[in-house]
Amino acid sequence: MNVVLFGPPGAGKGTQAKELSQKYDIPHISTGDILRANVREGTELGLKAKEYMDKGELVPDQVLIGLIKDRLEEPDCANGYLLDGYPRTIPQADALDDILKEISKPLDVVVNIDVSDEELIGRLSGRRMCKCGESYHIMFNSPKEEGVCNACGGQLYQRDDDREDVIRQRLVVYSEKTKPLIDYYEEKELLVNIAGNGTVNEVFEAISEIMDRYK
Ligand code: ADP
Ligand code: ADP
Ligand code: ZN
Repeated sequence: MNVVLFGPPGAGKGTQAKELSQKYDIPHISTGDILRANVREGTELGLKAKEYMDKGELVPDQVLIGLIKDRLEEPDCANGYLLDGYPRTIPQADALDDILKEISKPLDVVVNIDVSDEELIGRLSGRRMCKCGESYHIMFNSPKEEGVCNACGGQLYQRDDDREDVIRQRLVVYSEKTKPLIDYYEEKELLVNIAGNGTVNEVFEAISEIMDRYK
């Protein structure tokens, strides 16, 4: 099953993808997680990406296209993949199309998680992350023990880009560069919209219902 989980920053892509990846046994590929791991490890890619990420800007397309191509060629993608945070621009989507043709793994569906702007700001400003990729919320999705990851026991932290001014910039960038992909995938008849303002479980059920069609 070959799926893109699409939506604005804070829509719940990461939260849902973690669970869906287990349920459907396909790898969760989050370009944000991959970039943050590189920033933490101080790789050349990480150093370059950090400049953009801290400002709420997109990392250049060529960097992301190379990264996603390498990742999709890994053997664990043989039975499918769940993309989270890629593509974010039309050139990235066009490049994805070429890569997927080359490896004969065309997309089945693009699930667009729809959430209002006010809700997004509340979600992002209360988000707490673990370096294992789990994300929590101080009110809506709090860990069992404050500041500690349920999954791995790691210390939770607030992302540098989850501050009010950077959040607003990310939402502007989303509207300008990423949102046009909704029409792009609608034209290709790959888009399914789901309401993302329900609880984590409600959204999970809605996405599962769609993914079940492609099992
Ligand atoms: P994305 O990966 O799309 O940026 P996340 O999955 O990290 O979004 O979710 C953003 C924040 O909102 C996190 O703090 C998460 O715990 C919280 N969250 C996710 N889904 C919901 C939901 N359905 N209702 C309320 N809060 C949610
Ligand atoms: P969000 O929770 O806002 O959806 P991500 O964790 O997916 O955030 O991405 C964090 C940051 O990493 C983005 O603001 C951007 O700087 C960079 N990034 C992630 N994926 C991409 C991509 N496909 N293209 C360009 N930049 C990306
Ligand atoms: Zn963790």
